[in-house]
Amino acid sequence: AHGIGLQTPALLKIGGTSVTRKYLLGDLGDVTQIHSELTFQHGAGAWIARLFIQIDSFLQQLSVRTRLLGLSVGLLLLLGSTNLVLGFVIQQREGQEASQKLQYDRLQTITDVQLMLTEVRHYQGQLNVAKVIKSDELEKQIVESLANAERVLEEKLQALREFDASSVSTVRLERGLSLESMQKSIQAMARGEPQSIQLAKETIRHLDKIYAVLKDASERERLHADAISQSQLERARSAVRFTVIVIAVAGAFAMLLTLLILRSIMQPLQSTVTALQQINAGETMVDLPPITHNEFGDMAVALRQFRDRAERLQHLAYTDELTGLGNRAHFDETLRHAVAEAQVQGMTLALLYIDLDNFSSVNDSLGHTAGDRYLREAAARLQRFAMLETQVWRYSGDKFTVLVEAQAPGSAEAWNAYVNGQAQVLLRGLAEPFQLDGHLLPMSVSIGIAVFPEAGDTSERLVSAADAAMYQVKRTGRNGLRFANSALIADARNDLVLSTDIRRGIQRGEFEPFYQPIVDVLTGRVVGAEALMRWHHPELGVRTASEFIAAAEASGMMHALGEACLTSVCERIAHWQSGAEPIWVSVNLSTRQIEDRSILSLLATLQNQFVFDASGLTLEITESAMLEQVDRAQQTLEEVRGLGYRLGVDDFGTGYSSMTYLQRFPLDKIKIDRSFVERVETSRSAVAIIAATVALAKSLSLEVVAEGVETIGQMQKLITLGCTLQQGYLFTAALPASQFEEWRHSWALPLVTAEESGPTTG
Ligand code: C2E
Ligand code: CA
Ligand code: CA
Repeated sequence: AHGIGLQTPALLKIGGTSVTRKYLLGDLGDVTQIHSELTFQHGAGAWIARLFIQIDSFLQQLSVRTRLLGLSVGLLLLLGSTNLVLGFVIQQREGQEASQKLQYDRLQTITDVQLMLTEVRHYQGQLNVAKVIKSDELEKQIVESLANAERVLEEKLQALREFDASSVSTVRLERGLSLESMQKSIQAMARGEPQSIQLAKETIRHLDKIYAVLKDASERERLHADAISQSQLERARSAVRFTVIVIAVAGAFAMLLTLLILRSIMQPLQSTVTALQQINAGETMVDLPPITHNEFGDMAVALRQFRDRAERLQHLAYTDELTGLGNRAHFDETLRHAVAEAQVQGMTLALLYIDLDNFSSVNDSLGHTAGDRYLREAAARLQRFAMLETQVWRYSGDKFTVLVEAQAPGSAEAWNAYVNGQAQVLLRGLAEPFQLDGHLLPMSVSIGIAVFPEAGDTSERLVSAADAAMYQVKRTGRNGLRFANSALIADARNDLVLSTDIRRGIQRGEFEPFYQPIVDVLTGRVVGAEALMRWHHPELGVRTASEFIAAAEASGMMHALGEACLTSVCERIAHWQSGAEPIWVSVNLSTRQIEDRSILSLLATLQNQFVFDASGLTLEITESAMLEQVDRAQQTLEEVRGLGYRLGVDDFGTGYSSMTYLQRFPLDKIKIDRSFVERVETSRSAVAIIAATVALAKSLSLEVVAEGVETIGQMQKLITLGCTLQQGYLFTAALPASQFEEWRHSWALPLVTAEESGPTTG
């Protein structure tokens, strides 16, 4: 049923390179993808494109879980390696700082040695002075401090020796020498020998040597420290550069990985969503995602099942079970689409409405099973003889439809000839007798043809035009075809004809009010009558108001008609009022007559023409008449009432605001609508509405009339509800004035039989 279709090639754009993907898809159950082919355009990005596609297709093989797992592991790895690099850089930096600190410690040690040397010298000088002044006390003190200073100096020298042994040995040597010469100098000075100066100079020379050595050492270490700082700065710079590069590369990788994996998830999701939307829209050639060995594969399988089921359901909903043809629902939809399409494109199309000529006799004489086979055969023949691209539906029962769509715009004659040719083929194709259970059954059809847009510009109009044409064929001997023509169409819309008829009818006096009595069922007296218009149609006989009032309103003829009616009624009222038992007469007013206030001048004219009491004429108005231009209507009606005429509201309870206008308009009578009377014995709500209306009317001192009373049961039920003025076929339908008078004299209340009233009433 689905066949094989070539899918539109999808163009994929990757890295500036277009990649064409061509799928030849055949819908053979689960084996969907027969062949897939990738072709690349040559270009600068071809290699990258290929790589991407390889990664892409690799990713498509993986399950979504694996993909997400891969993504998290990949991101973690990238994060971890970046951290490692950072850790390494920091560790390096710490090592550098340690060596720098060591260097500064060395410098400090040298400075300390220098300081301690000075201190020791200082105490030595003091000691010399103490010796000269021979103060034992002072000497003892200074010796102690000197010893302390010597000890500290020794510590510092030990520290210095760890990295500069040669300087230390020089210091020790020179210090020994200086002490020696100093000692000698002091002894010489004590003895007053002249070489003491010479010896003191020698001491200073030794000391200078010590300072020079230490200065050299400190200079050396300082240079070393500078070199360390310099190299550290350079390393720090390159470390920062390295870190930035590592983080940038890692970030780019992470981003790429994330994008690729997200894309690999989003794409199948998107195509699934699209497929679902297409399936839901009822499309048949749905592009389904491929079946892979992962979650998307499962989804694709489920999607296939869903599509198949949707198609089966749609098929069922749109197929006629008996014949296998499309059913009416399908036809209606197809026709609607076709008409809309034809409208947009300015094309034409033809609808063939086909009815079997002998089906009911086959069904009646041979039974339903034979009837079904007869229908199936007809359907098969229709399909066989219809052109390839035209569709056939079973419309209903033994009616079929065929839609012929134009391939290109052309002349109307050519089109009609073409459609006629097709219909002829069907006519001849179906005309063969059909062998069924040993009977040779005749088969033939009547075909009505409606061409869009001449015969109808909507699908409904097309169908009814074709239907009408088909009936013409039936009437003129069946087994034929007929195009719906303008005369046929006009026949269907005969309102136009009617309106000219009404005008002529008024001129010729074909309209006459009939009178339907309104009786008081308690006293058995006729108290009033409603004037209802009748038309003595020259060809159609007597027509009731419901058959022409709407047409008269629509064509603006209601004024003339209303005037004719009221004139006749007023004359009749004047006549009856001059008699023994006068009755009031109600006349229906059209909304128009109130709207334009023409009723006022008409009544004035009639009062001049006939002598009658205004209270004998009740004007019946409907809710809609009161609701259009409320204020104006109210004013008009108040003026009418001021002249002494009575006002009644017709069809009470059928509108939406019946209760509100009761207060507002100067009413005298309420007429309960027939729909409530009809249901008074069966519907609780009808009873409730009637009871409420009666109560309301009593409180406003209005008369209530129930219309459309047809049975004694209704009459009685209405009596129990307090509604005793009644009108309806139970008493009589509307009668011409003279017959009305006769009826009135011979009339008696209908007898209440035991069956209808129950056992207690007699
Ligand atoms: P309506 O005013 O509701 O008139 C009652 C309609 O119910 C009449 O139909 C009457 O023949 C019919 N009827 C009376 N008794 C029964 C009954 O027991 N059972 C049933 N089923 N029907 C009953 P008709 O004469 O066809 O009038 C239809 C409508 O046309 C009237 O409804 C009224 O609104 C309008 N109409 C009639 N004559 C005139 C007229 O002269 N001028 C205007 N403006 N409208 C009129
Ligand atoms: Ca009425
Ligand atoms: Ca009514």
